[in-house]
Formats: sequence, structure tokens, C-alpha cells
Amino acid sequence: ETPFNVEALRKDFPILNRKVNGKPLVYFDNAATSQTPQQVINCIADYYTNYNANIHRGVHSLSQEATDKYEVARLKIQKHFNANKPYEIIFTSGTTHSINLVANGFSSLLNTGDEIIVSALEHHSNIVPWQMLCERTGAVLKVIPMNADGELVISEYDKLLNNNTKLVFVNHISNALGTINPIEEIIKKAHQFGAAVLVDGAQACPHIKPNVQALDVDFYVASAHKMCGPTGVGILYGKEEWLNKLPPYQGGGEMIAEVTFEKTTYANLPHKFEAGTPNICGGIAFGAAIDYMNAIGFDNISNYEHKLLEYGTKKLLEIEGLKIYGTSKHKTSVISFNIEGIHPYDIGTLLDKMGIAVRTGHHCAQPIMDYYKIPGTVRASFAFYNTKAEIDALVEGVKKAKMMLS
Ligand code: PMP
Repeated sequence: ETPFNVEALRKDFPILNRKVNGKPLVYFDNAATSQTPQQVINCIADYYTNYNANIHRGVHSLSQEATDKYEVARLKIQKHFNANKPYEIIFTSGTTHSINLVANGFSSLLNTGDEIIVSALEHHSNIVPWQMLCERTGAVLKVIPMNADGELVISEYDKLLNNNTKLVFVNHISNALGTINPIEEIIKKAHQFGAAVLVDGAQACPHIKPNVQALDVDFYVASAHKMCGPTGVGILYGKEEWLNKLPPYQGGGEMIAEVTFEKTTYANLPHKFEAGTPNICGGIAFGAAIDYMNAIGFDNISNYEHKLLEYGTKKLLEIEGLKIYGTSKHKTSVISFNIEGIHPYDIGTLLDKMGIAVRTGHHCAQPIMDYYKIPGTVRASFAFYNTKAEIDALVEGVKKAKMMLS
């Protein structure tokens, strides 16, 4: 780890030099997708320039080179998440794919009357697949409620758990509010009833380094594109015994041991869940992104981002009529807000004219918006390459937008 120097780091991100609508880009939509450093862009270019080939099947040199690099990326990811075995890391197209893979697999493991617990803070991608699973199996979906600070009410979770609970699904960090959920406690309590736990780490992995063995989590999922990697690739971590229990999600090439028209036997992990040609370049670039972030250091990243969060919160709250949703003490660098009497979409549109990129809307988390009885929020989410000066630009922009819209 080198000392944290934001100006030096910003030079790694060519996109931060561009203008939007004639103004320098201020990129505060990091919770949707992070930006890509030159090191990862170079890795992608290197793949297509020098060793683009299909993996795991060719005897020729390029294929072997691509296979080696892809498997090295898997090892990097294994080490990063502290998985016990490399084959407990399954490459997927992203968090959504990973969740659907698990939800589909559980179709054959659940029965009518079994119970699944999700949280009120979930992204739609962590609600809809479970509703579909319940429809297929007759299992019942229960919800851990939230409080006004945007935190889960754990005493209510205690009441939902029982011997029928088979699965618990919760995100590590809420994308809409930034709340960091007490997943250690949630996992421990679920295990007391023999239930498996899937943690959606899509929003956590850009900020912290999860240790899946220390957490004792059964499944952990993430997307590369939120952590300086490319889109269209992510991972499912699963404990070996769970991955062995789950049936394959998709049939196709690469995932079989032997095929006849009478019967097919499946390949070992991880190939059982990796049918077809994967996003080879994406997987390798995901490895490069993890190297990049680890070189900065996750302690450095989260300390710096926390300072941005505190500064942004203080500055934005100075604006009259501005309300922040998600006021937990345990939160990451996300500020979701509204200004009294103004639609979030209108603020977002005016900020865009000033070169400031924020997210507006329900953030794929409609139940949270329903809880607060609002149509949506403006969400500014900060990464380690953002600066206080950019936050000042946001605050000025919001003030200007407020004046124009009131
Ligand atoms: N879960 C959470 C908490 C998210 O923030 C997101 C992305 N907004 C997803 C899941 C879905 O990730 P992806 O679109 O990469 O599949």
C-alpha cells in the first residue's frame, strides 16, 4: 500500500478528463457503475491484441495462454474473497446472474411451506428471483422490515426465523441508501436454524474486502463493473458443499463430463456452472481490477470515502429543504436525498446540464421508496477518485437547480 493521493489516482482514469455538456465531468454515479482505470483498459486491449482465443478446449498456444490467464484471475478472486478453494468461485455475467443461478438451483431443494427471508432494503434483483422461486416451489417469502434511518430491524428478523426457514437473502450494503447491514449477525442467526445465507455484495465490494470464510457465508455475489472492472462479468462464491448440492443452471458446452442421448453427467466445479464460452476477457480484466484496488488498499479507500461522505452530508444538509434518506451511522459513501416540493428527476436533469452525473429514481429498490412514501431520490455515490472540490460543485449545482425549480 502506498500513501493515498487522490490527484495521482485520478490520472489513472482517462474518462475523468472529459467534458459533459461543456463542463468538466463530475461523476457521482459510482454505485451504478464505477469508472475504469487505464491499467484495466490496457489489460482488455492486451487480451484482444495478443491472445484472444477460446479457453479450456484448444491444444494450441493461444488457447492455453487465454486459459491460464483466466484461471489466474480466478485465483486472484479466490484470494481476494478468501474462499477456501478456487472452484468455489464461479464466473457469471454479474450479480443478477449469480442470484438467479442460486435461486434456480434451490427449486429442487425447497418444498411447500418452506420459508425464505429477504430484507426490506433489497435491490429488485434480490427480490424478484426469490418471488419466482416461491411460485415454483410453494415456499413463502418473508421480509425483515426497515426503520426510518434505513436500517434493518433485527429484533423483527429474530421473530421471522424458525425451523421452516431454509434461505436468507440480504445485501451487504444497500444501493439506494448506503446502509451497511449487520451481515455477521444475520448469518449467525440463520445458521442456528440451519438456513443458508446469500449475501449480495454488489455494493460492498467497491468499498471493503469481504472475507467469506470469516463471515461463514454460504453464498456471496458481486459484479466487476462496480469495482473498476468491465461490465458483463461477476462472481458467485459458494461453499463447496452447497455448490455440489445445487443442480446446474444452464446446459451447454463446458459443463458436462459425458453426453449421450440417454444421459449426461456434469463436469466438476466450477465448470458445472460455467456453460458455454464465458466473458474471457472480462474475467481476466476483473482480476486486473482487483489487483488495482488492492494496490491502493481497501483501508485507504474506505477511510477516504468516509471523509467524502461526512463532508458531502454536512454540505448538502446546509441547503434548506434538503432531506437525506438513509441516516444510519453504518453507511458507505452514498447520499440519497430530495428537496421539498421538487421532483428528483428535475434536479438530476439540471445537474447533468452542469456536467454532474447522479442517479435519480427508485434505484431498483421500490419497496424502500414506498416506505418513505416518495417516488424516488437523487443519489450521489462517491468513489475513491472523487474529491471535495467535486462535492462543492454538486452542492452549488443543487442550490442552482433548487433556485430554478422553486
Ligand atoms: N444488487 C445490488 C445491491 C446492486 O446495487 C446491483 C446493481 N445496481 C445489483 C444487485 C445488480 O447488479 P448487476 O446489474 O451488475 O447484475
